[in-house]
Formats: sequence, structure tokens, C-alpha cells
Amino acid sequence: MQCWNSTSDLKKHVFNSLKKAHISPSRYKGQNFLINANVVNFQINQANINQSDIVMEIGGGNGTLTLCLAKLAKKLYVIESDKRLVNYLEELMSSFSNVEILFGDAVKVPFPNFNKCVSNLPYQISSPITFKLLENQFDSAILMYQKEFAQRLIAKPGTKNYSRISVMIKLLASCKYLRTVKRGSYYPQPKIDSALVRIEPTKEKKVEDIKDFEIFNTVLFTLKKKLVLSALNGFLKRKAKKTTLHTHTILDSLPYAERRIFTLTLEEIIEIYSHLKKQTGEEVWQNIMYSRSTM
Ligand code: SAM
Repeated sequence: MQCWNSTSDLKKHVFNSLKKAHISPSRYKGQNFLINANVVNFQINQANINQSDIVMEIGGGNGTLTLCLAKLAKKLYVIESDKRLVNYLEELMSSFSNVEILFGDAVKVPFPNFNKCVSNLPYQISSPITFKLLENQFDSAILMYQKEFAQRLIAKPGTKNYSRISVMIKLLASCKYLRTVKRGSYYPQPKIDSALVRIEPTKEKKVEDIKDFEIFNTVLFTLKKKLVLSALNGFLKRKAKKTTLHTHTILDSLPYAERRIFTLTLEEIIEIYSHLKKQTGEEVWQNIMYSRSTM
């Protein structure tokens, strides 16, 4: 679908809208607006919206994506935290009966039911919004991130970008890097490039308690360059002071003991996690993981 015919049409829309809404874009609010028609058309096409879709857009801004999505979807919810842009969007979209604009911080407002999400995210909320999204059931999300964040999402074990977020995303979703978007595609131009990513939640439940696993994974990745055994030995010894923990027994037969943490796959981390949880027992595990200092 060719939603915007040309970049010059889109630029006119962006500059007029900012003038009309009395907006001088704020970096602090993540207000970088897309001015490249090819990028917008690409993002909309990737979302593959049809007349049965209920779509959520986070950070509607001046309506560049909103105008396209409203024509394609059965229902469109748009969340925007800048009241001036909410007012602007309400006027811009007034002829569409399938659009609802929600005013508020997308990290805090309850999400409506949706099956697709399309957003040029305000970058400062990339991480909390991604995890909030993944608490919901949906088909797919086509999201714009800062390029470095996108690289962390898809990073493979053993590479420099591999982090706790790479592991958590792998646990909860499949993630595909679609394309890099150069900084010049925005007004005002940000300091770094962006990237479009497709996220699809996985149906399979790989661990029973996701929050518990997330805490363990965070503990591991604060020591990501260390060997598994030495990192966990140090961690458990510090915790042993407050419990009746027998560190030796627990670490005996620890899987992947001699590997560096940042080389472990999700499945290997789950194995280590399950082993430790089983060896310590539920009560001691709670003590170790949830006592005041996690490290
Ligand atoms: N959709 C437009 C586009 O594609 O050009 C604007 C995207 S701009 C990167 C991000 C938008 O999110 C801005 O309009 C900004 O006001 C809004 N925003 C910033 N923080 C937000 C938050 N916490 N919740 C909802 N919207 C937010």
C-alpha cells in the first residue's frame, strides 16, 4: 500500500501539523517525527493490516501512521501523552468512526484489546513498553527502536550486544530485524539511526514463573563476562550468610559451570535456573532471590 505518495507531501504534513499544534519537538518526550514516505509505507506494509484487525499505535504524534492505519483497520487505538498532539489528532481523525485517541503515558495506561501494534516508539520507553506489550496476547508488532536497542533484541549468544534483554525477548517472542532507518528520515534528526523490528509473541511457555526467571537472568547478566560457576559461587556465598545454604551441594553438578555467562543460550540458562531452583528448594530460593540485595 502506498499510504504517502511522496516525501515532500509527508514533510508538508509534518511541518504544518507541528505549527498547528504549536509544537516545538522535545527530545525529552521522544518527539522525532518521520519525514520519509518510503519508511512509513514500508512499516505499514510490514504490519499487513486487514479489515478484521484491532490495531494499537503508541505515540500517535502528528498522525503520520495514524492516517494510514485508520484506513486499513477495523478499529484503531492511539495512545499519546502530549495533550497538544491529542487535541491535534482528535481533529485530524474526526471523520474516522473507528479511531479512539487515548491520552496518557503508554507505560501506565491500561492497554485496550488489540491484535496488532504499530509504533514509532518514543525511545525512552522502549524497554518497559516492549515488556508490557509481551504481557498481552497479540499477533504481531512492527516497532521502530533505536538501532542499538534493536540489535540487543536480536543479539546471539557470545556477541557484544547479547544482554539480559536478548534472553528475555527470546523467552517471550520471536523477533526479526526488518531494516535500518537512517537518522535523516526524521525531523528533528536524532543523533543515531533507528531500526524496524517485527515481534511475535511465542505461544509456548518455557518457564513457569516469568518474573522469577527474569530476576535470576538479571542477576546472571550483571556478571556476564564471568564463568558460570565462579559467578554463582560468589552470589550464593554472599547469600549463604543469611540462610542455611549449603553452597557446595547446590553447585555440585551445576550445568555449564565452565562457560562464560554471555555465551549461554536461553535454553542453557533455563537449565541452570531449573537446576538451582531444584537444589535449593522453594523456600530457600525465595530467600536468595527476594532478599533486599539481589547481588
Ligand atoms: N507517530 C509519529 C511518527 O511516526 O512520526 C510520532 C512518533 S514520535 C517518535 C513518538 C511520539 O510518542 C510523540 O508524539 C510523543 O509525544 C509520544 N510519546 C512520548 N512519550 C510517550 C509516552 N510515555 N506515552 C505515549 N506517547 C508518548
